[in-house]
Amino acid sequence: MSNSFDEKVTPIYQEIIKRNPGETEFHQAVREVLESLGPVLVKYPEFAHHKIIQRICEPERQIIFRVPWTDDKNNVHINRGFRVEFNSALGPYKGGLRFHPSVYLGIIKFLGFEQIFKNALTGLPIGGGKGGSDFDPKGKSDSEIMRFCQSFMTELYRHIGEHTDVPAGDIGVGGREIGYMFGQYKRITNRYEAGVITGKGLDWGGSLVRKEATGYGNVFFVKEMLKTINESIEGKTCIVSGSGNVSIYTIEKIHELGGKVVACSDSNGYIYDKAGIDLQVVKQLKEVERRRIKDYLEYRGDARYIEKGNIWEVPCQLAFPSATQNELNGKDATLLVKNGCIAIGEGANMPTTPDGVKVFQEAGILYAPGKAANAGGVATSTLEMMQNASRDSWSFEFTENKLSEIMTNIHNLCYEKAEEFGSPGNYVLGANVAGFIRVANAMLAMGVI
Ligand code: GLU
Repeated sequence: MSNSFDEKVTPIYQEIIKRNPGETEFHQAVREVLESLGPVLVKYPEFAHHKIIQRICEPERQIIFRVPWTDDKNNVHINRGFRVEFNSALGPYKGGLRFHPSVYLGIIKFLGFEQIFKNALTGLPIGGGKGGSDFDPKGKSDSEIMRFCQSFMTELYRHIGEHTDVPAGDIGVGGREIGYMFGQYKRITNRYEAGVITGKGLDWGGSLVRKEATGYGNVFFVKEMLKTINESIEGKTCIVSGSGNVSIYTIEKIHELGGKVVACSDSNGYIYDKAGIDLQVVKQLKEVERRRIKDYLEYRGDARYIEKGNIWEVPCQLAFPSATQNELNGKDATLLVKNGCIAIGEGANMPTTPDGVKVFQEAGILYAPGKAANAGGVATSTLEMMQNASRDSWSFEFTENKLSEIMTNIHNLCYEKAEEFGSPGNYVLGANVAGFIRVANAMLAMGVI
């Protein structure tokens, strides 16, 4: 990847910084895509002529709203809700909702922007969007979560629909929250519109494999990358940061394929289990009891917990950053490479800082950016929408095969585009270019809108 801009792209980027002050994560996400686009404009001058880059960087619609709710002691709280409907050239806006105190417009815009290209890479008919709130679900009771979700949906419902905008989960939003939000949508609209939201429960319109899809998909992608150097996951020592939905099902698939995950984490620290993480314990702690990862030691006496520790210091051959944005910096990347890491698969969105990406690329190790590697989640959301539209439900095996096929296709597309644009093995370039061209062609066809 060239870490500087093509001369045509520089003024476009400068204008975006000026128009969107203070939104640092959004700037970072835009910069990373724009750095890949120089050669695309040479090959397709019509994209420049029709100002496709400038239009793609401006969301079609941005919604910000008040979310008032009362806690169990009857105190009133006010949070801020967001939905950024970024691009609908390929289909209805599609992307998750994130509930986390760090959420502000810059985070939602970075996520929405990434989502455009990720969704395009899947080859499925979905546009890009993202939403969420600065609400902190940590420590809240079940009824507080329900009241918050109901208040959030009481405003959001007017903006979404199965042909308009289809939210799903992200950090802080899982099956429980999707249930409360879908219930409120159904009540307000008096419609059983299953395709309006994805990540639903299996008894009420959800799809098998959706829960597993982001993690499984990332492992499928890394498996394909390893094939290109005659390697496999079997027998490899792995680390997976985070311990949420993405991490759990990344660990599950790695173990199924014969790899060994020795460490995972939460925002307080990481656990190291030399014998391999006992996933049943992590599932019980995180999915059922909603506890912290340090409690793993109660079940596995031989494991270690490193409070405030840096998980990237654990030697491994494969690393799967699956917690959050910018969790892995240049120093961490250097450490990973030094310790013998040969491949990175990003389960989270933009988990590696630009410095870190540079280190991986200069070291020549396999590096799969999130927008390609973690596309399995949104792809399976789209499989859920297909099942909803046809009032069908597919078997686990059938759905998992579809997911695996989609991830292999994304891998091959990125690989081929990187070669075509003169940078073999550069999955960042391949993903950005392939995603961009697909959206740009659709925008071109639809005129200046
Ligand atoms: N939040 C997930 C992502 O980052 C999934 C989105 C979806 O299923 O719509 O892609």
